[in-house]
Amino acid sequence: VKSLTKHFTSKQGFFSKEKVVRAVDGVNLTVYPGETVSIVGESGCGKSTTGRCILRLIEPTDGEVFFEGQDIRKLNETELRRARRNMQLVFQDPFASLNPRKTIGQLLEDPLIIHGIGNSVERRKHVEEMIQIVGLSKQQLDRFPHEFSGGQRQRIGIARALILRPKLIVADEPVSALDVSIQAQILNLMQDLQKEFNLTYLFISHDLSVVRHISDRVAVMYLGKVVEVADKQSLYEKPTHPYTQALLSAVPVPNPHLTTQRIILEGDLPSPANPPSGCTFHPRCRHCMDICKTVAPVASEVSRGHFVTCHLEQS
Ligand code: SF4
Ligand code: MG
Repeated sequence: VKSLTKHFTSKQGFFSKEKVVRAVDGVNLTVYPGETVSIVGESGCGKSTTGRCILRLIEPTDGEVFFEGQDIRKLNETELRRARRNMQLVFQDPFASLNPRKTIGQLLEDPLIIHGIGNSVERRKHVEEMIQIVGLSKQQLDRFPHEFSGGQRQRIGIARALILRPKLIVADEPVSALDVSIQAQILNLMQDLQKEFNLTYLFISHDLSVVRHISDRVAVMYLGKVVEVADKQSLYEKPTHPYTQALLSAVPVPNPHLTTQRIILEGDLPSPANPPSGCTFHPRCRHCMDICKTVAPVASEVSRGHFVTCHLEQS
């Protein structure tokens, strides 16, 4: 993902001027086959929009998204549909957008029909296999979405995403609506499926504990920009961007010998329609310097694969 940008225009009141909302503002990110990269940040930081732009469910304003060497922004409708077989989205509430009058069997079969895969007997066999792979039974295929618990529904959501045998799954807050005990079950299921099907995950979450559980690498977003990227261990043990440090200081530490002091973030999250000048984090940063108010920092590599976008790290 190179310089990915999504600007929305919004008009608040009748007499107000149109405003540009910089939801995603120049995101660079690489995801390697078979890994799990998480995008973490507060709500409104642009992480979901980034995920949807990568799948081209939202048209980006600018930038490039290469999937297996192909710029998905340049694909026409037919090519895009073919590419979508390989890239699927798992939602927080998988049934918010699905027809409640269809059975689970029908809902799982729909993607196969859309992509012209198999005859009805073959499709049924596929569907029966898939429902069992996610830990439910064939007998449950004739039931309706409302008959399932939240955790079961997410299993079905995952089955629906997997039925086309994609390579990349973008999972947007897939466990955020679930109880903590159920969260662990779904995360473990996702990890098992990743091995079994060679999946690559782009995992979007605001929850740093969940992200720690699932990720190989983590990208931290703030106001439409990636401010820090590192492998999980570096990020959690050596958080370097002041924003990442503040976020992590609010999470309970598993190691009681590590005493981190809670860093309180000053002020509210600014609006992406009116981002601060220079480093957009500067009004809330404990280390703000003069340069931060006028000049936007660029990413620098502080150790191998660990990138930080902050003037403190610029050499
Ligand atoms: Fe803080 Fe300046 Fe770094 Fe921004 S660039 S995070 S304001 S020190
Ligand atoms: Mg979101």
